[in-house]
Amino acid sequence: MSNELVLIVEDNERNLKLVHDILEFKGYRTLSATTGAEGIELAGRHQPELILMDIQLPDTDGLKVLSQLKRDTRTASLKIVALTAFAMTEDAERFHRAGFDGYLTKPINVKEFPDQIRQYLEQDSRKP
Ligand code: MN
Repeated sequence: MSNELVLIVEDNERNLKLVHDILEFKGYRTLSATTGAEGIELAGRHQPELILMDIQLPDTDGLKVLSQLKRDTRTASLKIVALTAFAMTEDAERFHRAGFDGYLTKPINVKEFPDQIRQYLEQDSRKP
């Protein structure tokens, strides 16, 4: 079963379309946002099972969006995975400390991406 709802927050149109197309092909439902503000709005309204969060957004950055989502009781327990440019992977530790449930490197690996998404969906994010 893979009809979970995934919110993609990504301002790069090609990346957004690629991620969207793969997820839809695999049977997931998706929502897309191209700004942090839009992402916060959609997360609160739809409670997606997973949020994929770009770090460099036009209006803010993914870390700020994450902390805003964590402060709101409606969205505090949502599972959020960072989508990071390869050059930023040295910040992986920072992403974990900030409260992300994990991160995926861009460009995504099209072949491995569906399994990575599946693993994040099945991983218990509320471990101590
Ligand atoms: Mn971006």
